[in-house]
Order: sequence, then structure tokens, then C-alpha cells
Amino acid sequence: MKSAIVVGAGIWGASLALRLADEGWTVTLVEQYAPGHIRQASAGETRLLRCAHGSDDWYPRLAWQARDAWRKLEQRTGEELYVESGLMWFARDPDGWEARSARVLERLHIPCELLDPAEAARRFPGLRGDDLAFVLWEPNAGVLRARRATQVIARLAGAAGVRQVRARAVPYGRGAGVVADGEVLTADRVVWACGAWLPRLFPHEAGHVEVTRQDTFHFGVPRDWTTPPLPAFCDYDLAAYGHGDLDGMGMKVTGDAEGEPYDPESGGRRVLRHTEEQARAYLARRFPSLVGAPVVFSQVCQYALTRDAEWIVAEIDDGVWLLGGESGHGFKHAPALAGYVAEILDGAREPEARFGLHERRTARGLRTSGGTLS
Ligand SMILES: Cc1cc2nc3c(=O)[nH]c(=O)nc-3n(C[C@H](O)[C@H](O)[C@H](O)COP(=O)(O)OP(=O)(O)OC[C@H]3O[C@@H](n4cnc5c(N)ncnc54)[C@H](O)[C@@H]3O)c2cc1C
Repeated sequence: MKSAIVVGAGIWGASLALRLADEGWTVTLVEQYAPGHIRQASAGETRLLRCAHGSDDWYPRLAWQARDAWRKLEQRTGEELYVESGLMWFARDPDGWEARSARVLERLHIPCELLDPAEAARRFPGLRGDDLAFVLWEPNAGVLRARRATQVIARLAGAAGVRQVRARAVPYGRGAGVVADGEVLTADRVVWACGAWLPRLFPHEAGHVEVTRQDTFHFGVPRDWTTPPLPAFCDYDLAAYGHGDLDGMGMKVTGDAEGEPYDPESGGRRVLRHTEEQARAYLARRFPSLVGAPVVFSQVCQYALTRDAEWIVAEIDDGVWLLGGESGHGFKHAPALAGYVAEILDGAREPEARFGLHERRTARGLRTSGGTLS
């Protein structure tokens, strides 16, 4: 029987462990804390699922497959992990990023619609869209209950036979092995799915991954904005995103520009005044009636960024793989990405060249336009 060790029980590692176990592999999942622990990127309360990615068509396909995969996981667990609220892209340029996205979605037969800003404002109370050319509406996009989903998938992996080891792992010499708190574990394949910890573990191969602090905010909304859930939204040009109130946690409104360099272990988890001010400046522009709304929930999380926002799926030694550089847009894809990586580990396909360890050139377009990386 084929065997694998996956290090890291964020959404990428846990999903991969589950997928491999479902395919008959003997799998060990090594995680230093409890799955869903607050320092991991996957522990954000919510993450968006959307298919638009500008002119790229690889990620839209994967996101669309992932939507099906999330639905299947929900059937398996009996829990609603994905709320299909729909998502609005606020487009200021009639022929900009959103128009390019719409052309790709139409070509891939992924449902989308162009809305007049006035129509968008009818569907989203409080929206100020007088500077918009149109709104790109993805009816099947929505919001994942991310932290919960990460815990649920780790639990499913355990039920599928994955051995779960609570330990901090380091590479075991060269070759497919790890040392987990002193215990040597070996397998046919080792996958390091370590999120923001990857650059320190593998400075030579992944040292170019930059970890940044990202503050997120949920603002209290009027009661009549809470049911049914208002759509999610992304503002590509203004580098902001969020979603309507879900589970009474307020409306998420958050900037997407990359924050300060950050250490996921020692970094404080209290949001900063100036990032709240940035979120409020966005509210003033797009949802003015909420500008004085209270923050009812906030979180500090981190991006693990490559310069072009393309991920890393790369073999660095016989049977030893790095899976990382999620670049702030990896959550939604996890169950579909797990299938892709499982095929690679099985030797059935090669990873796309875009995921290699080559030098990356700064590029935008997979998340929003914002950012400070140069
Ligand atoms: C503010 C914010 C908003 C985001 N919004 C979205 C969104 O809307 N949609 C979307 O799709 N994505 C979004 N993302 C990105 C998404 O959250 C990440 O892509 C995803 O969670 C990455 O998961 P991961 O498993 O790679 O990393 P993580 O969740 O960080 O997991 C890595 C795990 O590895 C463990 N680990 C590390 N080193 C070791 C070791 N040596 N031994 C044992 N365990 C180890 C860590 O403890 C951790 O649990 C967002 C991210 C942030 C920060």
C-alpha cells in the first residue's frame, strides 16, 4: 500500500490527507497544534468561494470543481459548510479585470451575469455604486465557514483512517521522512503543507515566500440586513472584499492590500487601529450608512505570498514535496486541489510549470489589484 506523511493540518494538508486516505493510501497527518488553531490561515471564520480570476482560466476551473467537492463534503458530514450567497464584483472600468473574468466564466459555462449598478443596489441595501460601470454577479459564489470546515475535514480524515500525530516536524535528512518531536516517520511521499511556516522550514526552496499580517473586520449591521444573507463582494480596484452578515457575526469588510511582515508564531493577534480606519474608509466609499458601525468581530491572520500569487507544488527531493505559497486565495480550492495533488503524488500527472520553484516575477490579478509587494 502507498504511504504518505502530510505535515500541516490547515485546509490544504487536511484535505490532502483525507483525499489520499479515500484513495487507499496509508496516511499520517502531523500538526503542531489542534486543526483549526487560531494561528493557521485556515482558521479565519469565513473565506470566499468565487470563480472569477481575470483572464486566467486554470483557477476558475479548479474553483468550480471545488464548489462541487464542498457540496459532497457537506453531504458526508451533514453540516452546512458553504453558504451560496452569490458574490458581486464592483467594476469601475467597463473593460477591466471584471470584464475579462466574465469572458472566461462564460467560456467555461460558469454562471455569471452583468448587473446594472442600480440593480445591484436593489439587491444589496446600502451599496453606493455611482462610480461603477457594472457589477459582475456570480450567483454560485459564496462564503465558506472556514475554521469549522478545517476542523470537520481533519475529523473526517481521522475517520477515514488517517493517523494524526500532534508534533512539530522537521525534515529527516534527505529523503521522504520527518522527525516529529523526536519520532522518525518515513513514507513513500512526504508533503510539507505548512502555510506561513514553510519559508523558515525550507529557506533555500521557499525562502522567497513572504508572510504578511492581515487584519479582518466584521461590522454590526441593521437587523433587516441579516436575513437572508446578503451577497459576498469583491472590489478588485479598491482592494477590498467581504460578505453580508452570516451567523450573526456582522458584515465582513476588509482590505486586501498586503500588510506588514509577520511571524505566525509570535505575532500578536490584536487588530490595529490604522487597519480598522482603512476598513472604515472603504465603508465610507461603498457602504456609507455603515461608516460608524461597531466592530463586532475581528481577527488577525496571515498571507503566505509568492510574488505572482501562484502556488508552490514542487518536489524538492525524491518523494518530498512542498505545497504552499497559498497567496491569500487558497482556501476555496482545497478539496479540488487535494485531488490534483493526489494525482501528482501518484505519478499520474506532472504539476503545472507555474507552480515550480523558479524565480517569480511580481504580478497581480489572482486576488485584487492591491498590495505593497514590489
Ligand atoms: C485574511 C485572509 C483572508 C483570506 N480570504 C480568502 C478567501 O476569501 N478565499 C480563499 O479561498 N482563501 C482566502 N484566504 C487564503 C486561505 O485562508 C489560505 O489559502 C488557506 O487557509 C491556506 O491553508 P494552508 O493549509 O496552506 O495553511 P494553514 O492554514 O496556515 O496551515 C498550515 C499548518 O501547518 C502547520 N505546521 C506548520 N509547520 C509545522 C510543523 N513543522 N510541524 C507540524 N505542523 C506544522 C501549522 O500549525 C498550520 O496548522 C485568506 C487568507 C487570509 C489570511
